[in-house]
Amino acid sequence: MNRLWVRLTLAFALMAVLGAGMVAVFANRGLGAQFQRYLGQSRIVEFGLQETLPEYYALHGSWAGLDESLVVARGRGPGFGAGQGRGGGEIIVADAEGRIVSPASRAGAALSAAERDISVPIVVEGRTVGLAAVLMPSTLQFSAAAALFLSEINQVLIQATALAVLAGGLAGLVIARGISRPLGELATAARRVAVGHLSERVKEQGSEEVANVAAAFNEMTVNLQQADAQRRAAETLRRNMVADIAHELRTPLTVIQGNLQAILDGVYPLDLNEIETVHAETAMLSRLVTDLRELSLAEAGQLALNTTTRPLGPLVEGAAQRHAEMAAAKAIALDAEIAEGLPLVPLDPDRTTQVINNLLSNALRYTPLGGRVSVAVTGNPDGVRVTVRDSGPGIAAEDLPRVFDRFWRGEKSRAREKGGSGLGLAIARQWVEAMGGRIGVESRPGEGSAFWFSLPVASDAKG
Ligand code: ADP
Repeated sequence: MNRLWVRLTLAFALMAVLGAGMVAVFANRGLGAQFQRYLGQSRIVEFGLQETLPEYYALHGSWAGLDESLVVARGRGPGFGAGQGRGGGEIIVADAEGRIVSPASRAGAALSAAERDISVPIVVEGRTVGLAAVLMPSTLQFSAAAALFLSEINQVLIQATALAVLAGGLAGLVIARGISRPLGELATAARRVAVGHLSERVKEQGSEEVANVAAAFNEMTVNLQQADAQRRAAETLRRNMVADIAHELRTPLTVIQGNLQAILDGVYPLDLNEIETVHAETAMLSRLVTDLRELSLAEAGQLALNTTTRPLGPLVEGAAQRHAEMAAAKAIALDAEIAEGLPLVPLDPDRTTQVINNLLSNALRYTPLGGRVSVAVTGNPDGVRVTVRDSGPGIAAEDLPRVFDRFWRGEKSRAREKGGSGLGLAIARQWVEAMGGRIGVESRPGEGSAFWFSLPVASDAKG
């Protein structure tokens, strides 16, 4: 009973039975009267009244004396007069206003509504001059004929109903199958998705509503799959990061532990030199932990920016001055060039200085003795750009996309010796992007590098 096809079949069958039942009721109620009217009107034609009555009127100019001539006619006509045998009928003639002129017994009375209903107009020269009707007697024969007729109609109706029920059942089956098949497929697919098969899709078929449900299902699985992929990527990233951090912490810790162990075992003397080595490693550890904390906070968007709108030039000049000593120590020519008339930029001065410092100290660190480092501040279509160019070793093309990744270091051991945690550029990127800017690098091995970042002038810079 709960199955869709059973319900649809029953509904169709019920409609068929109801329809046929209604036809039967109306036919039985209306057909008796209709049948009588039909018989009466056909009698008028059969008796030739449609010709004789106009002729009579045309001859006499009125209906006067009609009754006598009709009585004569009634006397000899084929079944004229009330109850005069099989198929007989009472002839009634009225004038144009509906007043009876024959039979004489009812002369002057008005035609009843029923009589008027079955009457036929008598027309002479295009004018209706009277009305004629033949009243059929409710004889047994008539009732029997009508009853026979009706019972035949009922028979046909019963057959038609049976056929309609059969057709309804078939239609119910076909339609139910059309609806339930895609629904069944949807249910199966949903169960598969529930156990993790997110690539499951269904055909968008069937009626519009069912196809819509299928489309919504497919959309849902696409979104689920994307969310799952993102979750997996985030999970991989997190795992990698934990592994990276563990690795980065282990190296200085191993050095510290090894040195201390050697001192304890009496292999190394307990002198200032050894203590300095251990101290340098702890300083590196401490810097690593500080950088990590800053990076994770920046990535989580938890460090608020102190944005003010000001020129970038003075920040760059200040940073260059602070690095002059370091440059001089390596005999590196360091110069800063700031273009005229640059627009003000919304920025966090401390974070921006941190980014410039990072790029400058990297440049100085990786540029060999006697090299050259220049900083330029220029305007560009989307804002102001700072470029730090050096005459260092440059970066291989395959490494370029990775220099801003956290913990990425070129020639790891060497870079680490130089004090790099591999986090400086990752942090710089976080800050620049937090201020709505972009950061990048152009470099070729042997031709030096140009690290740059740009900040937008638009007042909608993030902050
Ligand atoms: P680190 O603390 O190791 O310098 P960064 O994130 O600042 O970490 O830099 C990542 C890596 O990018 C460095 O290890 C280095 O290999 C490379 N790099 C950065 N700046 C330069 C530069 N100016 N010239 C050549 N290589 C550079």
